[in-house]
Amino acid sequence: MAIATPTPTEVPPTLTLTPSLVPSSSPTIFPLPTFDAPIVTCDERRPTDEDLSAIVTASFGLATDYVPGDLVRLGNYLPGSVTLPDMLLRRETAEALGKMVRAMKAEGLAPTILSTYRSCFEQAVARHRWEVNDPANASQVSALPGHSEHQLGTVVDFSSPGLLALTGDPAVKFSPLFVQTSEGLWLKTHAHEYGFTLTNPPEAQPWTGLTYEPWHYRYVGVDLAVYLGTSGYFLAEFMFRARPALPCIPALDAP
Ligand SMILES: [Zn+2]
Repeated sequence: MAIATPTPTEVPPTLTLTPSLVPSSSPTIFPLPTFDAPIVTCDERRPTDEDLSAIVTASFGLATDYVPGDLVRLGNYLPGSVTLPDMLLRRETAEALGKMVRAMKAEGLAPTILSTYRSCFEQAVARHRWEVNDPANASQVSALPGHSEHQLGTVVDFSSPGLLALTGDPAVKFSPLFVQTSEGLWLKTHAHEYGFTLTNPPEAQPWTGLTYEPWHYRYVGVDLAVYLGTSGYFLAEFMFRARPALPCIPALDAP
C-alpha cells in the first residue's frame, strides 16, 4: 500500500521523538520481520543478529557494551588496496560489500574504505577528536558514543581517489563533495542493489541529528534497500512510519 510523501510538518521538530509523534495507524508498507526483543530504554538496546533495520540516531542508542555477534576481518573479503585488513564488519555485510566492490572495480572504479565497525569506546575517541578539531560542528558530524550506526557492524564509510581534486585539501577525508566523485555517483545509483542504503541524506538531519553523509552506507539487506531506493524514504523515517510503536522507551533527558 502506498502512503503519501511526508510533508515538512510531519517531521519531528526536535530530535526527541515521543509516541505522539509516531503515527499509530501507519500502513504496512514493507513486510518487516518481527522480533521478540524486550522493550528497554533507548540507550540499552541490543539488536538481535537477525535485525538489520534497528534505528540508531541521536535519540535512539545502543547499549555501550553491545557488540555484534559475527564480526569478521575485512582482509578476508577485500584486497589491501581497498581496506585495512583488520577492519571489521558483520559477516553478511562483509560478503555483500565484497560483491559490491568487485562490481565497482570491474567498471574501473577504485573505492577505498575509511571506516567500518567502531565499538562504543572507539566512537568516543572519534567524537572527542571532532570536538577538539571542529568544536562548532562536532555534534552534527559525529555521533555520541552509543548513538553511532557504526557500532552495528553494518556500516561502511567510503572514499575515492577523486576526492582530493574536488576538496583541494588532503586533510579532508569526509566531504559532501564525495557524491560528485565517480565512486560516490556509482554508490548513489547502485548501492541498494547490493543491500546498502544511504542513512544520512540531507533531509534526514531532523531525524538522525547528523548532517548529509554521502560516504556513509548501511547494509540492510537487498529487499529493504531496494524498497528504500525506489520509495524515496530514508531508513529512520521509514522505520518510524512502519513500526506500530517506538523501538524503545525514550529516556527523559534524551537529546
Ligand atoms: Zn559513517
